[in-house]
Amino acid sequence: MGYLSTCTTCEELEELLFLLADGELDAQTQERLQVHLSECAHCKTLFDVEVHLRALLKDCYRKEVPADLEAQIRNQIRTVEVKRD
Ligand SMILES: [Zn+2]
Repeated sequence: MGYLSTCTTCEELEELLFLLADGELDAQTQERLQVHLSECAHCKTLFDVEVHLRALLKDCYRKEVPADLEAQIRNQIRTVEVKRD
């Protein structure tokens, strides 16, 4: 149990929280913070909220721009044009 003797602190995690949620940290730092998360309920909560927010945001973007919406609209326009001809 030598984890807590390393320099991973709650302050450090809060500082790097956004990068960690984005997966933009180097593997070593990420692993060290993950260990802290598994032992610190305070930081785990912060991280869970951050990840949850990111998932919600991604969901919103997806709903605003459905992948097949443009194709559907094009098909409808084509159908109307064919009928007119
Ligand atoms: Zn902590």
